[in-house]
Formats: sequence, structure tokens, C-alpha cells
Amino acid sequence: MEDVLNNPLFEAFANASDNVYIYVCDVKKDLSRWSPNAVSFFDLPGEYINNAGELWGEKIHPEDKDVYFNDIGAVFSGKKKHHSCQYRAVNRFGKYVWLECKGSMLKDENGELATFAGIMTRLDRQNKYDTLTGILTKYEFYEYDFSSDSGIVLLLGVDGFRSIINTYGYYYGDELLTAIAKKLQSICTGHQRAYRFNGDEFILLLPGADRESAASIFRQVRSETGFIETKDGKRIDISISAGAVEFSEACCEKDEIVSGLELTLSYVKRTNKGDIGFYSKDIEEKQLRERTLKEDLRESIANGFKGFELFFQPLVDAKGAKILGCEALLRWKGEHIKNSYPMEFIPILEESGDINPVGKWVMRQAVKQQKEWQEKFGQLRINFNVSYRQFLETDYVKELQAAVKEFGVSPDNLVLELTESCNVESPENLAKIFEEIRSLGFHIALDDFGTGYASMELLKKLPADEIKIEHSFVRELANGQHHKADLAIIDSLLFLCRKLDNKVVVEGVENKAVDDIIRGMGPDFLQGYYYSRPVCKAEFEEMLKSGIGC
Ligand code: C2E
Ligand code: CA
Repeated sequence: MEDVLNNPLFEAFANASDNVYIYVCDVKKDLSRWSPNAVSFFDLPGEYINNAGELWGEKIHPEDKDVYFNDIGAVFSGKKKHHSCQYRAVNRFGKYVWLECKGSMLKDENGELATFAGIMTRLDRQNKYDTLTGILTKYEFYEYDFSSDSGIVLLLGVDGFRSIINTYGYYYGDELLTAIAKKLQSICTGHQRAYRFNGDEFILLLPGADRESAASIFRQVRSETGFIETKDGKRIDISISAGAVEFSEACCEKDEIVSGLELTLSYVKRTNKGDIGFYSKDIEEKQLRERTLKEDLRESIANGFKGFELFFQPLVDAKGAKILGCEALLRWKGEHIKNSYPMEFIPILEESGDINPVGKWVMRQAVKQQKEWQEKFGQLRINFNVSYRQFLETDYVKELQAAVKEFGVSPDNLVLELTESCNVESPENLAKIFEEIRSLGFHIALDDFGTGYASMELLKKLPADEIKIEHSFVRELANGQHHKADLAIIDSLLFLCRKLDNKVVVEGVENKAVDDIIRGMGPDFLQGYYYSRPVCKAEFEEMLKSGIGC
């Protein structure tokens, strides 16, 4: 392991700001190095300190010791990778100052805890008012004495803020945040206060409020911020979610309130966007699973996509029974979480942006697989899923071209499925990318068709080769009482697609009765549990050898 304490980068960053102190610790030697401004401000014995944990612990305010030691303990016992908490520490003048301390534990090549490094930011040095929006900053919020009152705190976040910026640019992002801040400010009465928290997040402090009144204030915020008109007359539709925590004399720990707010908001955004949720133990447990999932996913990606695997589900000829190809579906087992399915882990990858490297891995695996099976079994198409984000944020077309060139595959047998339920903000941009991909010889399918409100609109704007009718229309066809409406929808989609020269895949064929009905309607491909569940590579090869026998 290199000498982390004497890395020139440490010196470069050590005095970057008066308000920020940095530290790095060689865990095995229990030797740490602190930036000179930390040595002077906290009256430390020197830049290099042995067993600094004990010395630093003594400087922490007695009321904050638990918060600090619990968090740092979890990091040093390997339970947590990142240290993040706020506490007070005494400075050289004997005065306690608030610090926001963030650090990360790095492992060596043997997987052992090796380096702990991070920064401490002085919160008392920050401004009272946010420079962009003009409302109070989060540091003012931290000053509030929660033990003196009871009430509710709301953490509000703009849904999909990143994609608003991607579509409209940072300038409009700033305008939007300023407009929301103004609205929040205008809604506050009496002792209620609005604060800018992080990025697109705001806090509403509602002393004296109960759940009902807090929910009603949230509804007011939501209705008054449904869209924002920019200075140059653009209308940006926005949706806001909120996490809420109740506080009282018995429940007034700032760090607990803030972590409750953050985890509740992220739960609401994941499960019920545009709504309000109140903190509960159940939400905390679900979020804990999500956090572990995130860390496991990161670990897998960093370890060369360890734990990721493609499964394959046959696509069957609707005019006969032959397997014409398959859809590649991602499976994953993490180090701690072994039972996660795509419906759970794909949205997490999409949110963090990790879908970009994972999606590239999927694409390359599918292309490679196509080559191998083409040689063994002859003509066979492989469909694979692509997230909207990949098109927007990566050099996707180039990567696709490079993969087919590298593996020597014809694009004609590769179908990219773009899920239609995703929020396509700019169909015009996407249409250009689709055209480029199709002109190279690849095919494009609009996935989950019929679920989003904009299906018809998208069909008009996006040049695709095929559509996949969502399985919720299909599964219950044979026994549901509403099957008349579903049948009519499928029939008219088929009619429309024939007119537009689009091929149609019907998903969700689960039994013979549904299969009979659907085949009578004349689609091109069938997919569903009736033929096979998604299976691993070896099982799919068995199917190709023997046919599936339905
Ligand atoms: P999807 O693209 O609509 O994939 C079809 C899903 O329906 C698969 O779930 C499949 O197992 C399931 N399914 C197939 N036949 C039937 C049936 O007869 N009945 C029922 N009830 N379900 C059936 P899976 O594998 O859990 O994937 C879920 C979703 O995850 C996919 O939905 C897709 O949107 C996403 N996904 C999977 N792999 C990838 C990937 O590599 N990249 C991206 N971006 N998304 C992926
Ligand atoms: Ca799909």
C-alpha cells in the first residue's frame, strides 16, 4: 500500500478553505495526518497523530458523543463505508463549533480496512441566507431548538430535478429553485420557516403542526408549484415529494430528525412520487435494505460486474412454435442481498446513474452471446433492454457500433427495447438517436407499450420497428371479467401497428387459453411463462436444442 499520509494531494487540498479541515488515517498503523488549519484551530499536538480517535473523541461535546461514536464505530467495524454526521467539537479557545464530518473507508487489495479519509466543514461559518434563493440556509435550521416545542418538519424535494436540468439547462434549474423558494416563503405564517437544504431540497419547519395540518400545507405547496413559468415564458411542469418527521421534547435529536427526513423523502420518491410520507420504523427498514442494495451494487460494479448475469426468455413465432430469439433479462446477486429482482434493483441503478456502466455491460454481453449462438444454432435475434438515461448520458451509438465490430455480429439480429413507461422528456432528441441506430441496421422496440399515458403520442414521434404490448393487458385475458376491454385494446394496437408496419410482440402469455386467444389476433411474436420463464444460458441452450414443446 502506498504512503497515503504523504501523498502530495493531501498538501494540495489541505488549505483549500478556511472552513474545511481534512484528515487521512492509515488504519493499520493507527496513524493519521491532519491539515495544518485543523492542527491550529483545534489545538492538536501536530499534523501526525497516533491513535487520534481517542484524542478527537475527547474534544466532542458530551451530548454529541453518542452520535459520533456510533457512526464512526460502524465505519471502523466495516459495517458502513461512509462516515457522515454533525456534531460539536471544542476549539483552541474552548468554544464548541458545529462540524459536518464526512469520510470514507477504503479497503486494500486484500479487502482489509486500510485508509480512512475525509473532511470536516464548519457549519457556523456558513451564510445565514442562501445565495441563490435568498431564503434561510440549512445552518439556520440546525440552530433551531427542537426540545422547546413540538411539531412537524417537512423535507421537500423536486422530482426528477436532474432530468429537468438535462432538458432545460442549469439556468432554468436555478430559476425553478428560486421560484419554489419564494412560494415556500410566502406560504409560511407565524413561526413557520422555509430553508434551502441540499441542491433541490427544501425544509419547511412547522412548529405546532400535526399530521393533518402538515399534509394540508404540503397539498398547498404542491398545488401552488405544479408548474413554474420562467422569465422567458417557458412553462416547466414540476412535481414535489415530501418526507415528514414529527418532533417533540422527547424526540428532538437533530441528527435523528435529519436522517429521518432524508430516508423518508427518498422512500416517498421511490414508491409514491409527488406525495407526502411520515417517518416510521417500517420505512427505515425498507430504506436500510435499499442502502445495502446500493452498496452491494456499487461493489459488484467495481468488481468487474461480479454477481450480474443475463437470463433469457424465448420469443416464439406467433405463426408456429419456433423460438425465433429471446429477451435478455438482467439478474443479480449481491454480497449481502441475494434475493433482489430487476423491478427492485434497476430503478436504483437508474437513479444513481450506475445503469450506464451496467447497461453497457448488458449490451456487450448480449452482442457477444448473439455471436456465439449464431454460430451454434443459426439465425437468432436477441432483444435487450436499454434505459432512457443511457441514450442521454453515454456515447451509446458509438459503444454499440464498437461492440458489433469487436464481436463480428450483424446488427440485424439485435433489438434494443426502450421502456415506454419512462418519462421521455424530449422525444425529438430520442427520435434522432433512434434514426441513427436504425440506419446502422439495429432494430428498436417500444417496451411495455400501452401503460404510459403518452403511448400514442410516442408512437407518432418515435421511429420504432416493433412494439411490445405490456403483459398487464394480456395475463388475465382468459379469466378476467374485464377481458373485453383488454381484448379491444390489444386488437386496436395490432391494427395500428400493421398500418404503421410495426411488428408486435405480445408479452405475458401465461397459459394455453390466453395463447389461443392471442394467436387468433395475429401478432408476430409471443413471450410469456406459458413458453418459459427467463432461464440461465445453459437452460436456454437446452431449449434451443430441443424446442420448447408447447
Ligand atoms: P420488461 O422488459 O417488461 O421484461 C419483462 C418482464 O416480465 C420480466 O421481468 C419477465 O420475467 C416478466 N415476464 C415474462 N413473461 C411473463 C409472464 O408470462 N407473466 C408475468 N407476470 N411476467 C412475465 P424481469 O426479468 O423481472 O424484469 C423486469 C423489468 O426489469 C423488465 O421489464 C425491464 O424493464 C427491466 N430490466 C430487466 N433487465 C434489464 C436490463 O438489462 N436493462 C434495463 N435497463 N432494464 C432491465
Ligand atoms: Ca423488455
